[in-house]
Amino acid sequence: MPTKKRLACRDCLRVLNDKKAETCPACGSASITDDWSGYVVIIHPQQSDVAQIMGINEPGQYALKVR
Ligand SMILES: [Zn+2]
Repeated sequence: MPTKKRLACRDCLRVLNDKKAETCPACGSASITDDWSGYVVIIHPQQSDVAQIMGINEPGQYALKVR
C-alpha cells in the first residue's frame, strides 16, 4: 500500500490516480484535497444505489466524503 494518501476532487468526488495532480482530469476543477474518507468503486452507475445517491453517472473511483 502506498503511504501517501491519494487526492480526491471536491466537486465530482473522483479519486485521482495522479498524486501530484493540480486539477481534476474528470471535471477540470482545481479544488482537490487529500482530506477525504470512504472509497467506492462504481462500475455500473445505472445499477448502483450508491451512485444514484451520490449523483454519479460515470464509472470510476470515488470518495464518499470530502472535506
Ligand atoms: Zn472533479
